[in-house]
Amino acid sequence: MLPDKDGPDVGGGQRSPDGEDPSVTLFREYLRLKTVHPEPDYDAAVRFLSRIAVELELPLKKIEVCPGRVVSIMTWEGTEPQLKSVLLNSHTDVVPVYQEHWKYDAFKAFKDAKGDIYARGSQDMKCVTIQYIQAVRKLKAQGWKPARTVHLMFVPDEEVGGHKGMETFVTQPEFQKLNIGFALDEGLANPGEAFTVFYGERNPWWITIHCPGSPGHGSRFVENTAAEKLRQVINSFLDFREKEKQRLNTSECFTLGDVTTVNMTMVKGGVAYNVIPAEMDVSFDLRIPPTVNLQDFERQIQEWCAEAGQDITYEFAQKHMNQNITSTDDTDPWWSAFSAACKSLNMTLEKEIFPAATDSRFIRAVGIPAIGFSPMNRTPILLHDHNEYLNEEVFLKGIGVYERLIPALTSVPALAGEA
Ligand SMILES: [Zn+2]
Repeated sequence: MLPDKDGPDVGGGQRSPDGEDPSVTLFREYLRLKTVHPEPDYDAAVRFLSRIAVELELPLKKIEVCPGRVVSIMTWEGTEPQLKSVLLNSHTDVVPVYQEHWKYDAFKAFKDAKGDIYARGSQDMKCVTIQYIQAVRKLKAQGWKPARTVHLMFVPDEEVGGHKGMETFVTQPEFQKLNIGFALDEGLANPGEAFTVFYGERNPWWITIHCPGSPGHGSRFVENTAAEKLRQVINSFLDFREKEKQRLNTSECFTLGDVTTVNMTMVKGGVAYNVIPAEMDVSFDLRIPPTVNLQDFERQIQEWCAEAGQDITYEFAQKHMNQNITSTDDTDPWWSAFSAACKSLNMTLEKEIFPAATDSRFIRAVGIPAIGFSPMNRTPILLHDHNEYLNEEVFLKGIGVYERLIPALTSVPALAGEA
């Protein structure tokens, strides 16, 4: 059942004296909570969410997934709770700021005359959290009920890798009990008219190459030095980097998510000016799209090392191998419900591979389809940047988007294998 189009306009309370929409007021209140690394005020976030759960009359589960790391889950039970549920995921933490580069206090949620709200988390991703909440609030006020159960999940540590949040939680029985069929999680702003949706992510590989060599006195031509090998290794990686950059720049239809990025991030070695070192190391940050054969790519790395000289070894600090992508085929029931809801709002969607990493990768890794989507168009991409902001009109439109998406996704009929 779809909700009435013209339901009552209810937000988190009455309009404030200056006429601000109550959803904007709630958004700005949430932005002021200092859930910022390295010491996020997790208690403030949990207190805030507890209050919202009471307002929405939804049960709130707090699960301590790792010591000090609480995942909060509000559950809106559907009329057909035996069917798989829909997950609306968001993270409560935000990255640090360099306050001296900001026009306004990054935790004051200042709103300028244009309606731009400046705060850390305004795009990444406190906007989405409040949009989920306000969409649920409005749907409830219209008396609408979902068929499939909806879970609103709030995770604590996405910005530091999600290891003590989502990555651990997906392995626990409490997660399985949620019986999730489809998930929404964060995306990125789009500076144009369209909205970007992400159906997969690149795999990060962090690799260090160890180049051993003959040591000796700095006054001689020693053969087989660590530095010569290091240079070869660096050349191979950076030549490849150049080719990938070319590929990105010469193809209209490629985005960052479609190519492998390579960046040399650390170099180590040497003890003195006149001592030829016995080893030099170089480290790279690689981000590999799901279309690349990872076994072949590692063989390529082995070849580069072999070509650079004897006894070169490498090790990974991080090596993600999951290449699950979420179907964006029109025959997929979840995607077709998602895209039809967006189409009904005249939204244009641009499908991309997410260039960096989010908690969606852990959800996809356990076989659950997930779409990364933050409904922000006409907005520069400012996540993790100075002066991160979101315009209040764009923010408010996003609530309307979820008012369509939640009914569409929870109305997906029983699929093969479902009760
Ligand atoms: Zn984020």
